[in-house]
Amino acid sequence: MPLTTSSTLLSASTTGDTPLILLVDDVPANLDVLVDQLAQENIDIRVALSGEEGLQLANILRPDLILLDIMMPGIDGYEVCKRLKLDPELADIPVVFLTAKDEEIEVERGFSLGAVDYIHKPFSMPILKARVRSHLALKRKNDMLEQLACTDALTQIANRRHFDLSLKREVQRAQRYKQPLSLILLDVDFFKRYNDQFGHCAGDNCLQIIATVLKAHLRRPSDMVARYGGEEFAVLLPDTKLEGALKYAEKLRQSVVELAIPAASANNEVVTISLGVATANATMDATTLLQAADTQLYRAKHAGRNQVAAEGFPT
Ligand SMILES: [Mg+2]
Repeated sequence: MPLTTSSTLLSASTTGDTPLILLVDDVPANLDVLVDQLAQENIDIRVALSGEEGLQLANILRPDLILLDIMMPGIDGYEVCKRLKLDPELADIPVVFLTAKDEEIEVERGFSLGAVDYIHKPFSMPILKARVRSHLALKRKNDMLEQLACTDALTQIANRRHFDLSLKREVQRAQRYKQPLSLILLDVDFFKRYNDQFGHCAGDNCLQIIATVLKAHLRRPSDMVARYGGEEFAVLLPDTKLEGALKYAEKLRQSVVELAIPAASANNEVVTISLGVATANATMDATTLLQAADTQLYRAKHAGRNQVAAEGFPT
């Protein structure tokens, strides 16, 4: 298979569960051999002809495994690996060095930079394939565990742990890029009464339905909804001003009313939510933003529930 251009899409299928490998090598002939052999496996392959391109593609594609040459002009393989491991979003991608360098000190350096394996050229193709399969299987298991650790078992949306990490990251990002970051904290009104009257199964079901609605309203990949506590949810909206977040919150409030879940409360006919909205300013840390949204949620509750509150709104 000739490689006339770099970063060629070599497999038709990039969807589903087919694992994706990124090959980085400055010698096209080396890539040809690997592509031919690995194409026989059920693997999608992309290639990069330099360290720079490898980093770029890793960032865009988030491959499941990177086979990385060491000796390349420009950024060499060691430096590529180092930069990958420094980026929290890319650090989990396993890196296998594939190189003619075979001195002990070089191999040790590769591992110390965070590589999971080190394969010498010229290599035995069956052994290389076996190692690739084994690393891909491990990666799949790690991804599943990571997914489980981030997910709320009842509602299948992000859990508190995942939310806390995301909030921290988004606050840093918002400060770095001087972008607004909005947070909605919301709570199911009279949920204790609901549980008391209809039982915990019905209560769980109610939370699941509300979580589904909240999730369905997410507009961008960067938006996230999480189960924050028992009947409390959080919606994180990067690059969103207070005005936008208020509209969003109001839409969520209406959507829950429209679900028309019969309420236990004598005050309400259907289950409703109260929402507090806050937007981080340039110096606000995660805790302060959370407190600000929580204060507004308290205001919404105090003012009669089934409503949205933010600083200065309603006046
Ligand atoms: Mg090379």
